[in-house]
Amino acid sequence: MSTMDDEKTLVSSKPHVMFISFPLQGHISPMVQFSKRLVSKGIKVTVVTTTSLDITNSNSINIEHILVDTTSQGKSSAEAIDEYLAVLETGITESLPEVIEKQTTEGWPVKFLIYDALMPYALEASQKVGVQGVAFCTHSSAVLAIYYHVYQRTLDFKSLEESSSVTLPSLPLLGVEDLPSYLNEMNPYTGLFTLCMKQFRGLEKAYGVMFNTFEELEGEVVNWLSSKWKIMTIGPSVPSMFLDKRLADDRDYGLSLFKPEGEACIKWLDEKDTDSVVYVSFGSLANLVQDQMDEIAWGLLNSECNFLWVVRDTEKSKLSEKFIEESADRGLIVNWCPQLEVLAHDAVGSFMTHCGWNSTLEALSLGVPMMVLPQWTDQTTNAKYIVDVWKTGVRVKAHDKESITREDITKSVKDVMEGTKREELKTNALKLKEMAIEAMSEGGSSDKNIDDFISEIVNPTTST
Ligand code: UDP
Repeated sequence: MSTMDDEKTLVSSKPHVMFISFPLQGHISPMVQFSKRLVSKGIKVTVVTTTSLDITNSNSINIEHILVDTTSQGKSSAEAIDEYLAVLETGITESLPEVIEKQTTEGWPVKFLIYDALMPYALEASQKVGVQGVAFCTHSSAVLAIYYHVYQRTLDFKSLEESSSVTLPSLPLLGVEDLPSYLNEMNPYTGLFTLCMKQFRGLEKAYGVMFNTFEELEGEVVNWLSSKWKIMTIGPSVPSMFLDKRLADDRDYGLSLFKPEGEACIKWLDEKDTDSVVYVSFGSLANLVQDQMDEIAWGLLNSECNFLWVVRDTEKSKLSEKFIEESADRGLIVNWCPQLEVLAHDAVGSFMTHCGWNSTLEALSLGVPMMVLPQWTDQTTNAKYIVDVWKTGVRVKAHDKESITREDITKSVKDVMEGTKREELKTNALKLKEMAIEAMSEGGSSDKNIDDFISEIVNPTTST
């Protein structure tokens, strides 16, 4: 046999797992990161995407594209979102079976599909061609538990008054404002609410549910969910060099839908004192209202701390010339940054965040105290956990995002950057950082769950 034939035999003998992700930065990153973990443990991986992706970090990941009409992608009106969700569902339902079967023809039959939990139709499509699926949640397990109560009607959010609290098994006492924003009566995004509920469609037919979290972080709720489905916590799904360091050179997710201004950020941070910088970012999607941008800007400036603020180009017009001029000495404003490198930098003392689940896990993994300014979706629930359960952050202002003042911003920066509050937050943050590293290290809770899943891929005990 020729060398090429040898290689083909070798590759074909590897079990093959396919991933399909919802086409958003915060969904693609943890799935691709997890796929790198599987590759490092001898699994062949194909990532199916509808977005044009350039995965730089691992040449060993195969990419397949499903083309869908992206005319309405990225638009924020409720109608455009609904239209896009429908197009996505049709495109994937029609094309995924073909993509899976193509792998068999090429000698790499797919053993499992790991699908974004928001895409139950991907499970239906893969089961049609005999491939079992695992749902992958890119939000916390607490958030899935809350959605489940709404789905089961054990939580009637419509009857809740503004000041009510809810008691749900395995969760802390939650105020209405701590629940994911789509549950709020005023939510205009009914399509997104439906999307969250759809996660449960046919979920009992999946092999199980994976979470980008770890047992030590969400043990109680993970236990509760385990009575309903097979639960696998496999996170934090963050590049290995920031955690267990077992994947050599794995310092970034390996893909970015935005272009980071890495060199400028690190050079600027290198010149700053230890713990002297507030890092500010609201993720890849949030659009802040003008008043809020103004108050954050002047609050940061008045705090007299250094700050590195990610303001995406589409948001830049909300910054005044006067602020840009006056903050030039102490502030760096960029379109996008390498967030993990920034959070890991000695100069960064705290993180003002919108509490997206990836940002939350990244800050926890790197032991950085937070100031929470949740905007929408699951961020409100993540903020509740950061402040009241894990105690690694402070609220800028209790549940009143529209009327945050510059004084609130300045006060929260001072609380997180100096004094006894900072000490308490930092101590808790460092404890969680150790736990996150432990979970991903050899024999840790997440590592063990990943190994158990690999055993299932190699020697399946269940069928579709
Ligand atoms: N991120 C980044 N650079 C930035 C801002 C964000 O690399 O300047 C990354 C961040 O590290 C995280 C992701 O973008 O992995 C944002 O995901 P998250 O779930 O926090 O929020 P979303 O963007 O989905 O609202």
